Amino acid sequence: MNERDSEQVARTFVEEGYTLTPEEGEADAILINTCSVRDQAEQKALGKMGMMGKYRDARPHVVYGFMGCMAQSRGEELFERVPHLDVVVGTQKYHRVFEYVDRILRKRLEERMDEVGGEIGTVSVEEEMDRSSQRVKSHVKVVSEGMVDVAEEEGSQNTIKDHVPRPEQRATAFVSIMQGCNMRCSFCIVPDTRGKERGRPMSAVVDEVKGLVDAGVKEVTLLGQIVNLYGRTEFEKVDGKSPFVQLLEAVHAVEGLQRIRFTSPHPIGYRDDLVEAFTYLPKLCSHIHFPMQSGSDRILKAMRRPYRNEKFIAICEKMKAARPDLAITTDIIVGFPTETEEDFQATVDCVRRLEFDNSFIFRYSKRKDTPAAEMEGQLPERVKEERNQELLRVQGELTTRKNAALIGTRQEVLCEGPSKTNKARLSGRTGQNKIVIFDGDAERMTGEIFAVDVEDSTGYTLYGTAVVRG
Ligand code: SF4
Repeated sequence: MNERDSEQVARTFVEEGYTLTPEEGEADAILINTCSVRDQAEQKALGKMGMMGKYRDARPHVVYGFMGCMAQSRGEELFERVPHLDVVVGTQKYHRVFEYVDRILRKRLEERMDEVGGEIGTVSVEEEMDRSSQRVKSHVKVVSEGMVDVAEEEGSQNTIKDHVPRPEQRATAFVSIMQGCNMRCSFCIVPDTRGKERGRPMSAVVDEVKGLVDAGVKEVTLLGQIVNLYGRTEFEKVDGKSPFVQLLEAVHAVEGLQRIRFTSPHPIGYRDDLVEAFTYLPKLCSHIHFPMQSGSDRILKAMRRPYRNEKFIAICEKMKAARPDLAITTDIIVGFPTETEEDFQATVDCVRRLEFDNSFIFRYSKRKDTPAAEMEGQLPERVKEERNQELLRVQGELTTRKNAALIGTRQEVLCEGPSKTNKARLSGRTGQNKIVIFDGDAERMTGEIFAVDVEDSTGYTLYGTAVVRG
């Protein structure tokens, strides 16, 4: 989701004539889109921003900004942590980042031009400052030299809709269909940083997908904090179908689109109409990422996850019946406060029973300002680490076995371009979201779907040969 939001911000800069650079030392503005899921992520962002202050010595005009969840939750306080910081913009104000950065950058460049007796553009400093302050009035708080904007904004979910045009062929794209979450999981800060659940109009999502397909995209991933609850407060059910299923049908009808994914669904609101959709919408990929978090009902309750493990299992089983080749991946937290050995074993049993294709396993770590951080019964790091290692081992065996079973099969693979670890080879994904490495011509094959004969597996990655016709 952060990646998608960052792209939207990048697009506004590109539209206004800026160029993107991977070289921090060349940038006139350095923005970090922050995550607050774990304290560690915040510390990393603060450390990185601190280090990048060095560029100001050589280039005093450089503008530094934090965006996203940490910006939202910490706001003004960040100026104390990072003295060279200029801008702090929250999760409902991504569309305003450009004007804040541009305003400061122009001012600094103009000041420098004045110093050397030059000019910049045709707008006077006074005019520009007047114009800028008109545009940003009431949303921006000026803190000494910096700006902070973390206010809520109605309709902000509709602002994440544009993509950066790319010279190279692009296989896949994320589409943000909603923002926010109405749940209150005790370990999560998202409801505070992203606000209430709110969906975009279906027609806007469909138009965005059409635009992506016109630009050559074959696969889209629909994004939402609880994606299957999309539109439940804004749109009616039609013929017993939820707004999310209606949206899936509408996106499925986009000509030229070949694959649809979505992330992440939640057991709440995962009803039979969505299960059924997998039987009649063939573009839906045979994979869901379905966070379980724990296999123990007691821990689910402590996490304030309003479902029992039985319900989670029942949905997975229905899904496998609807789409027999379905791959399921999940998120699990081990070492949550008060988790006993018995609770942990319930999670291990559930992982074995459901045979996840992969699990993203997190050792519980305290997240400031969440109820779980204040709970009694915090576990020692050693216990968390042991449980983490054990579950990783169980999942590793399952993943290795499942991927080994694919050796000798032919898979449809969407080529995403050169492999990140070996640029000489290509990388792509199967419908089950398994990564496959194969040889081929990047220019011709990127963004296309090929049959690949799977010949080997190293556990998590498959290797094969593309069956290139004619
Ligand atoms: S469902 Fe829970 S974990 Fe997911 S975003 Fe909402 S509060 Fe956070």
